[in-house]
Amino acid sequence: KIKLSEKSQKITASVTLAIDAKAKQMMAEGIDVISFGVGEPDFNTPENINRAAIEALDKGITRYTAASGLPLYREVICKKLKDDNNLEYKPENIVVSNGAKHSLYNALLAICNPGDEVIIPVPYWVSYEELVKMADAIPVFVKCSEENEFKMKRNDLLAAITPNTKAILLNSPSNPTGSSYTKDELQMIADIAVEKGIIVIADEIYEKLVYDGAEHISIASLNEKIKDQTIVVNGMSKAYAMTGWRIGYTASNKEIAKIMGNIQSHATSHPNTIAMYASAKALMEDQSSVEEMRKAFDERRKYMVERINQIDGVSCITPKGAFYIMMNISKLKGKEIAGKLIEGSMDFAEICLDKSHVAVVPGMAFGVDDFVRLSYANSMENIRKGLDRIESLIKG
Ligand code: PLP
Repeated sequence: KIKLSEKSQKITASVTLAIDAKAKQMMAEGIDVISFGVGEPDFNTPENINRAAIEALDKGITRYTAASGLPLYREVICKKLKDDNNLEYKPENIVVSNGAKHSLYNALLAICNPGDEVIIPVPYWVSYEELVKMADAIPVFVKCSEENEFKMKRNDLLAAITPNTKAILLNSPSNPTGSSYTKDELQMIADIAVEKGIIVIADEIYEKLVYDGAEHISIASLNEKIKDQTIVVNGMSKAYAMTGWRIGYTASNKEIAKIMGNIQSHATSHPNTIAMYASAKALMEDQSSVEEMRKAFDERRKYMVERINQIDGVSCITPKGAFYIMMNISKLKGKEIAGKLIEGSMDFAEICLDKSHVAVVPGMAFGVDDFVRLSYANSMENIRKGLDRIESLIKG
């Protein structure tokens, strides 16, 4: 038998995509499944962005361009970073990739040596762990409690740091918790990162989706030192409902950007030129569709939080960003639901899908077993229906 890559065989398939696939399969069979599993806006890409893509086709903007991304788009990204995040970058600091996921991969490949450790606050987005392993580095998990809004505390961060710590993967607002770090909390992390010489990979893909007056702050904007040590990751998927377009980008110091550009130039080249042109227009033109979507998410968020906390046996804290809620199911553990003993988040997710036809993501996928993640990127009607079903399932 031919031996395959040991490293690659250690990479597990994304649980979120697996649940989504099962839910979609059931839907295809005609079952009325409500999915709280999805990680993408339920809105269509705004019209003006679609039109920009057509314009690119009409103008013949369909060829190879610079490996690090369409020059026009990189210039527009610099303007966006200045206007939104008070960050000064030049196009040479920007690398555009096939989605923020690809940006994260490039970033980790650019900075990690075998044996380097990358700190990941728990609960974490499913892909972080695997991406770190794919870059030959070691994920080091820092547990964050629900009491602390799933945010990393100073002492816990300090305790996780070793001489091998290369980077901290910070996601604010967060998937799966919806938590958003305040300026003071970011300052605390920045001070430690600067003092210890640790790179911060700041995944800001949910920056536009913040609520209750929370303000998104980029850790890189706190001072020049932390800016030099930060790789800001952002993209079009969540804010502009452009998940299928596959456009993400990084802003970093020139050296890191150059290495990432070199890697990408051989692995994938630049992402789709038409999508980059449309993304440039998306950032340049009227932003009202972003705000409309944010408001819709906000309304659903409030409803979902209220409803969940009315159901006996489960609870949740109010998330300040993104479009996810971590529902605490710890009180259901050891109990039987619809004839099934609930020992953890996987059991709950399975029974939820099988008996109630509601898809949720088991917290196991994010490193916590007392929770399941519910996405509110779904219509109010579906959210209502889905929560009714969860309520009846738990009531029995
Ligand atoms: N980062 C986080 C925290 C995410 O939740 C996602 C998508 O689910 C991504 C990055 C990747 O987004 P994309 O590759 O579509 O830009």
